[in-house]
Amino acid sequence: MDTGQKIEVLGRSAQYDLCGDACGTQASRARDDLGRWIYPAVLPDGKRINLLKILLTNACENDCYYCANRASRNFRRLSFTPEELAYAFDQMHRKGLVRGLFLSSGVCNAGRTMDRMIATVELVRRRYAFPGYVHLKILPGATFAHVERAVQLANRVSVNLEAPNPERLARIAPPKDFTAHLLQPLHWANHLIEEGKGKRVSVSQTTQFVVGASDETDRELLSTTARLYREVGLARVYFSAFQPIVDTPLEDHPPTPPLREHRLYQSDFLFRKYGFTFEDLIFDDSGNLPSEADPKLMWAQAHPECFPVEVNRASREELLRVPGIGPRSASRILKLRGKGKFCELSDLHKVGAVAKRAASFILLDGKRSPCQLGLWDSASACHP
Ligand code: SF4
Repeated sequence: MDTGQKIEVLGRSAQYDLCGDACGTQASRARDDLGRWIYPAVLPDGKRINLLKILLTNACENDCYYCANRASRNFRRLSFTPEELAYAFDQMHRKGLVRGLFLSSGVCNAGRTMDRMIATVELVRRRYAFPGYVHLKILPGATFAHVERAVQLANRVSVNLEAPNPERLARIAPPKDFTAHLLQPLHWANHLIEEGKGKRVSVSQTTQFVVGASDETDRELLSTTARLYREVGLARVYFSAFQPIVDTPLEDHPPTPPLREHRLYQSDFLFRKYGFTFEDLIFDDSGNLPSEADPKLMWAQAHPECFPVEVNRASREELLRVPGIGPRSASRILKLRGKGKFCELSDLHKVGAVAKRAASFILLDGKRSPCQLGLWDSASACHP
């Protein structure tokens, strides 16, 4: 099989690893002129680039119940040598097809596979002098030396936890040890990243959960997510809704509805951008986020004592608790307040807030606002 065919097969096999705005989904990837998968991704600095997202090999000695590459599935296994993959990436980069690399792999002896992944990135960096974005997956069971080298070479590293705790992981990936194989590398990477801050290009780390595969609850997922943000300085957590794969032990397990994944991302966003804590989230009796409303609206409805908020006097933290007001609109409100009062819903609409949503939670210059959307096109009476 030639290199182009390997890129096609091992690129398709990498679709389950997430690395940008839902970039593992079919809708957000595209084939290039030669039929190879290219993945658009959003970098930590907000830039969008195309990544070559690929596995070093789709052979694996593990038998995780949800995984297309598990050892017990019967299909043709392929592998790159580090030289082959580094050269192929360089060629695609020179042609302008990709501007970054995301490298993951099945596990054929964790130590040896990590050695070969690291050798690939060393060739990309040294022989081909590629200075751009590299996301390197750290495999379960990697040693401290592997993590150290990965942090030196990559812009982003990640360890897939897959499940929120040891009990849940044991139900879907029995050979993996949650603490020793997965949490430990995250702690090492965090320590190394903190130590290297200011000395080299900034490095970040992420993780990923398979949502619904182990019958875990949203409470478990988000409790672990909040802890990881605090304890290992994660930049992002990715939630991948479980989809059954034929010829796996979970082939008859129901798929996870996209709305569940969406609510988890909304909660994650509240942690990262709105100052919410795990304790702020509202769960139903089964330990899951209610599907009927987003988690911020649920919190606001459960805390009538915090409303209404006077838009002309509220702090940034108070504004961010109002449904319909996000970080950007809160910043604009604070900036424009010095130039005049917010008196109408149309004033809020102009700064990007979802004014209709905010209406029942705010006061505008001391008054509750009628929700008159037809007024939005008219000029504000008292705001510039
Ligand atoms: S270790 Fe990774 S590639 Fe191997 S079966 Fe488990 S999830 Fe799949």
